[in-house]
Amino acid sequence: MCDNIGMRLSNRCYAVTGLGYSAPWCVNAGFVVGDSVTLVVDTGGNALAAQTIHGYASAVRPANRLRVIDTEKHFDHIGGNGFFRERGIDVWGHAAAVRTPAEFEAESAEFNDAIPNAARRARGEAQAFFHGTHLENRNRQIDSDTRFDLGGCTVEILLTPGHTPANLSVWVPDDGVVFTGDCLINQYLPNLDAGGPQEWRTWLDSISRIEALNPTTVVPGHGPVARSGEVQVVADAVRRVLRESIARGYSPTSDQAI
Ligand SMILES: [Zn+2]
Repeated sequence: MCDNIGMRLSNRCYAVTGLGYSAPWCVNAGFVVGDSVTLVVDTGGNALAAQTIHGYASAVRPANRLRVIDTEKHFDHIGGNGFFRERGIDVWGHAAAVRTPAEFEAESAEFNDAIPNAARRARGEAQAFFHGTHLENRNRQIDSDTRFDLGGCTVEILLTPGHTPANLSVWVPDDGVVFTGDCLINQYLPNLDAGGPQEWRTWLDSISRIEALNPTTVVPGHGPVARSGEVQVVADAVRRVLRESIARGYSPTSDQAI
């Protein structure tokens, strides 16, 4: 079950964890509150998730302008983009983070196909999950490391490819908090299926990059927030899966592994 929680992590950083996706997957988002701009990190998988994130992010400092950054292109992280774009809020993301309407249709169909009960499947209940949700790609793009001045707080947008070529992390140096998207995930098996051994080696480099920041808090793309000593445990767990997969030549969730 997903428990949706808005959690204050530090002076300026908040996590919104447990946003619903295809069970048992929950997805995380978060936000960083500057003096004039609140930066939302990921928009969840649908309009309802986006509404939740938007509500938390707006409540902390209502006078702030909002800005969004997508950590990657998979729909569990960008499905709420449309909700923010409808409100005139800029959505930043990697130049390569672009999806097509056909891909979104396929995701919705896959959701529906996964419904166990035949009557519910026939009724197309996945439509309820995606009610009010439409595909919007980022309207502002990044192709190198970038800094955002949020007013009294600078955040660094770091390229951390591997899970996909378009993965980004958001580092808040003053607070020791990093939002990693799916470069790091906690408790779940990481999804390696978007690449092969070459991409997985790139992913290992990105994990090293995050470790070198020496963060005290990691908000992973999925699973519980990691604090202090847990950070190393989470990084080591993903690294172990990557190394085993590189040695073996296929991902733990590929058909060959099952
Ligand atoms: Zn994800």
